[in-house]
Amino acid sequence: MAAGTTGCPICDLNASFVHRSPRYDRDVDDVECARCGKFMFAPAHISFDWDSPVVPPFLIQKGLSRRDAKQASLLLRRYLSIYARECSERGLPAPLINPFNLDELARQAETYAFTPVAAKTEKLLRLLEKRTIFPGQHVRLDPELDYPAVHAIGVEEFGFYLQALQKEGSLEYGTTSVPGETKAVLLITITLQGWQRLAATGVNSRTGFIAMSFGASMDSAFSEAIEPAIREAGYEPLRVDRVHHNQKICDRIVVEIRRSRFLIADVTAQSQNVYFEAGFAMALGLPVIWCCRKDDFTNVKFDTRQYNHIVWSDTSQLRSQLHDRIIATIGRAQ
Ligand SMILES: [Zn+2]
Repeated sequence: MAAGTTGCPICDLNASFVHRSPRYDRDVDDVECARCGKFMFAPAHISFDWDSPVVPPFLIQKGLSRRDAKQASLLLRRYLSIYARECSERGLPAPLINPFNLDELARQAETYAFTPVAAKTEKLLRLLEKRTIFPGQHVRLDPELDYPAVHAIGVEEFGFYLQALQKEGSLEYGTTSVPGETKAVLLITITLQGWQRLAATGVNSRTGFIAMSFGASMDSAFSEAIEPAIREAGYEPLRVDRVHHNQKICDRIVVEIRRSRFLIADVTAQSQNVYFEAGFAMALGLPVIWCCRKDDFTNVKFDTRQYNHIVWSDTSQLRSQLHDRIIATIGRAQ
């Protein structure tokens, strides 16, 4: 296929929005989509129909049946769209999408399928902030093109966060018609309260709080996986036992969690402290990333099983999956 415009292989967006140019040295298409951003698609020159024969386990966890292949394909594409757009928004290298490698595809999609609501509203406000030249400006967003940027799977979900932020007083929005454009244009303004929220959220914090058991069996998980994964994403890992040893430790923990940007809860060994710290962080609206070693996952407390866990077998797997999840959920530290 020659360079030109065609439908986006992930989201089908067509006409002039998509520029697709094959590289002649590799079996890869470079795609630029107004919705998904920049990504690579391989093998090149194919039109892929995405009818997945297998429903990935994380979608069954979300309530799909094994026969929901059509719905699974649709959701996979939406999550991949989020993945590619997130890379573009953050200026990361264009990710490679290979639709024939279903395992890798499901792994990429799963990373983006569990972004907490608090993180999504934050992303919407941050997207607006990025596009605002001066406070008070009416900023234009196109829900049809911008939903993956806030980790929404469609316009309906995007609208939900928009309304929620308006109700809490962080933004105001309205539509207007523009000469020469067929559809109404959405204009949004961050309110003073919204600016205050942007200044107040833990965004200035670089701390990733680690809640985990302190047994010797978890030392390698800490030093070979959790600590480096947090550092590689640009944050400072904090495990309170390493900085304080006194009876005030609980007060100290509460203060440190409040100051953190996010919390990693590794529930291996089922320490009650880990559940307490994770619950406290959730109540504050902090993103919580749950992990558990595979051989202990059946012991996870029932009420929290509903949260997606990184279920890991070895430390290198935990390190890479945790790193990906931090980038997807919170973003690389700027
Ligand atoms: Zn696209």
